[in-house]
Amino acid sequence: MAEKIQMRTPLVEMDGDEMTRVIWKEIKEILIEPYVDLKTEYYDLGLKHRDETNDQVTVDASEATKKYGVAVKCATITPNADRVKEYNLKEMWKSPNGTIRAILDGTVFRTPILVKGITPLVPGWKKPIIIARHAYGDVYRGVEMQVPAGAKAELVVTNADGSETRTLIHDFKSPGIIQGQHNLDKSIENFAKSCFQYALDVKRDLWFSTKDTISKKYDHRFKDIFNELYDSTYKEKFEEAGIKYFYTLIDDAVARVVRSNGGFIWACKNYDGDVMSDMVATAFGSLAMMTSVLVSPDGVYEYEAAHGTVQRHYYKYLRGESTSTNSMATLFAWTGALKKRGELDGLQDLSAFAEKLEKASIQTIEEGVMTGDLAAISTLPNIQKVDTETFLREVDKRLQAL
Ligand code: NAP
Ligand code: MG
Repeated sequence: MAEKIQMRTPLVEMDGDEMTRVIWKEIKEILIEPYVDLKTEYYDLGLKHRDETNDQVTVDASEATKKYGVAVKCATITPNADRVKEYNLKEMWKSPNGTIRAILDGTVFRTPILVKGITPLVPGWKKPIIIARHAYGDVYRGVEMQVPAGAKAELVVTNADGSETRTLIHDFKSPGIIQGQHNLDKSIENFAKSCFQYALDVKRDLWFSTKDTISKKYDHRFKDIFNELYDSTYKEKFEEAGIKYFYTLIDDAVARVVRSNGGFIWACKNYDGDVMSDMVATAFGSLAMMTSVLVSPDGVYEYEAAHGTVQRHYYKYLRGESTSTNSMATLFAWTGALKKRGELDGLQDLSAFAEKLEKASIQTIEEGVMTGDLAAISTLPNIQKVDTETFLREVDKRLQAL
């Protein structure tokens, strides 16, 4: 066998839970370690070890990501009451993704993996639509109240000098509800920076949409911050790269997205991104064919799959039954991270290997060899439904032939 590809800087490797933890190990053993002299700094974010370390391991892994710049993360359990019992946890630990996001302060970009035979429900979509979701504030940090009849609701801001600014929200003649939301200029700026930077990275147009005609101060602030940053810092770079930035109203954006051929990034406010990413993922075919990367404003990257730990398949696996879990999104988390590491360290052979591995995996599916989730929706004539491990071995055959 040829000599293994060398790495310079380690990847931050965050291991995870259940079925994806099984897939994680198989991907490394079958498709990466035979070809790459894999260097990682390993953090076990499996729920058991998070509990043993009082979740310190999640914080340490995030700090390591800041230090090295590129991480790859396996899906992890976010504990609820059932999990506390199942794993006999000391506490109901917070979502690891939430912790990592809070430390890296990033924006999440989700991209569908397109293959022949899996037809998007919107027939015009030929190229991926990447959703960039702002992950701070708005309704996710909102405060709400039920208001009785006869009450007057006001927005009151107490300034640092003690003076007050007041605006009437509503004079309630009958009972109703109110909600207070906030965001921060700094967070919006970081969101904008991550979006512009990512658009340059992947050389795709960037669309941004809000409802600034109705929300003349709140949403308008988002629009202004994006426009100011674009004009001051990114305009020339975009022109050089031959890509465009374009702002439009959210309802106009929805209509244009559906009529488009894809091939752009759609930046969305927190709530819009939550809703639109599920719509886009579903319309492209499958959550198991969706990659996800967290990009921080200072250029740190954390790659993962968009789906969870596939608990139902894991229990089948534990009972010794064969499982046909789709490993594409997790595999693309690895190739995304290796490609980025290669790019940052000037290791062309590493980036080229990652691209080849992606190609081999897409070729495998397009030749009809696929896991059950895709077999159920593929329009190809000769489909061979395989289990998780067989799929990876079939990818390896094609990788060796490339
Ligand atoms: P899930 O892992 O996303 O799976 C839900 C269902 O979607 C599966 O039962 C399966 O459907 C299908 N599916 C998802 N990924 C698939 C794949 N790769 N291949 C084939 N089918 C796939 O969600 P869950 O089982 O409800 O959640 C399990 C755990 O994941 C939870 O503890 C949750 O906290 C965690 N989670 C983690 C992350 C993350 O780390 N980023 C994200 C979401 C959820 P069928 O059963 O019909 O085959
Ligand atoms: Mg959601």
